[in-house]
Amino acid sequence: MTVTYWEEEIETLPRVGLESIQLRRLQHLVARVYKTVKPYKRKMDEAGVRPEDIKSLADLSKLPFTVKDDLRDNYPFGLFTVPLDEVVRVHASSGTTGKPTVVGYTAKDITTWSNVMARALCCAGATKGDMIHNAYGYGLFTGGLGAHYGIERLGATAIPVSGGNSKRQITIMKDFGSTVLLSTPSYALNLADAMDSMNVDPKSLSLRVGIFGAEPWSENMREEVERKLNLKATDIYGLSEVMGPGVAQECLLTDRGMHIFEDHFLPEIIDPDTGEVLPPGEKGELVFTTLTKEAFPIIRYRTKDISRLIYDQCECGRTLVRMEKVTGRTDDMLIIRGVNVFPSQVENVLMGIDGVEPHYQIVVDREGNLDTMQVQVEVSEGVFSDEIRILENLSKYIQKEIKDLLGVTCKVKLVEPKTIQRSEGKAQRVIDNRKI
Ligand SMILES: [Zn+2]
Repeated sequence: MTVTYWEEEIETLPRVGLESIQLRRLQHLVARVYKTVKPYKRKMDEAGVRPEDIKSLADLSKLPFTVKDDLRDNYPFGLFTVPLDEVVRVHASSGTTGKPTVVGYTAKDITTWSNVMARALCCAGATKGDMIHNAYGYGLFTGGLGAHYGIERLGATAIPVSGGNSKRQITIMKDFGSTVLLSTPSYALNLADAMDSMNVDPKSLSLRVGIFGAEPWSENMREEVERKLNLKATDIYGLSEVMGPGVAQECLLTDRGMHIFEDHFLPEIIDPDTGEVLPPGEKGELVFTTLTKEAFPIIRYRTKDISRLIYDQCECGRTLVRMEKVTGRTDDMLIIRGVNVFPSQVENVLMGIDGVEPHYQIVVDREGNLDTMQVQVEVSEGVFSDEIRILENLSKYIQKEIKDLLGVTCKVKLVEPKTIQRSEGKAQRVIDNRKI
């Protein structure tokens, strides 16, 4: 198999060369955020570290971490390093409470992002001759637009179909001759079901490769997606706080991890309990520092994703380190059909509603290929004895509030007072029955 690169020189650069680029960029970044972003300056001052202390890549560990709450505390634009008139786009994702976390991009950031995304597509074997079916959601979520600009940068044809309306998606795939599919892995399986119900044989389509991400998925799921859609399934990684899709991508010659585009995104693996940097190859929490972003750079962002870094030379010739498929999280964030959901957000919604008690449980499952979420909540004594109609209205109201605030559709089950098990220590808020 011939390997094609988007930017061969940087993708195959010996590590020593790569590390010298990383260090130069890191020093520049730290000096810039220290000067332009008060919260970064304050945290660095508190930690007793100054920009000139960054003399080697190992000195990165002297810098304080950034966590999701830092984004919330500086909502919406407090961590931007440039005036808003230089920001050409914003995106947002769910925060731990009601407010979303907001990220911004300058024109140059959009170019950088398009470029790393084009690299990712190329890494998965896509070329300018491809018809790329982009079923990631378009909107505030970085998935749709992030992938879209990369497709155009590559010179391929973008089909900006976004999510939903599966039957129409299959018709488009058939009629337009889609060759590459971008979606969440669970939505890919949903598309397979739609094909089945329309009696469309995947072998009759032109799909060759899939680039799936935005939620954790297993090797078993990979096999299922490959079999049902008759394509090669690859894994992509990205998160809005760091950039969006295009942070790392699996190549076609390994299924052991995704190449991280390290000249832009500097990875570390830390012990989530102590914050210590772990030796190469150990499993822990993935932390990223962006090296080239202008509007919203981030230093040592704790992703809460569990992974490990693989430094062995890959057969594809890329020298870029690989990150293993994400195997879990260090917090209680759930990903429901690509949407990030924190139990604390559900709790916030419930707390604002009369007639319900602060006792609830979230049951997550997978029916067919789609994630489902049911919120079981205790109602107050008085309410429970009321008529069925009142209970039905209450349940619909909760469902609507959750949909409005979290963007996820769930079922609500009202239960009698004191039926949800009380725990001695930390309440078990989530029961996740999905087999991932
Ligand atoms: Zn490779």
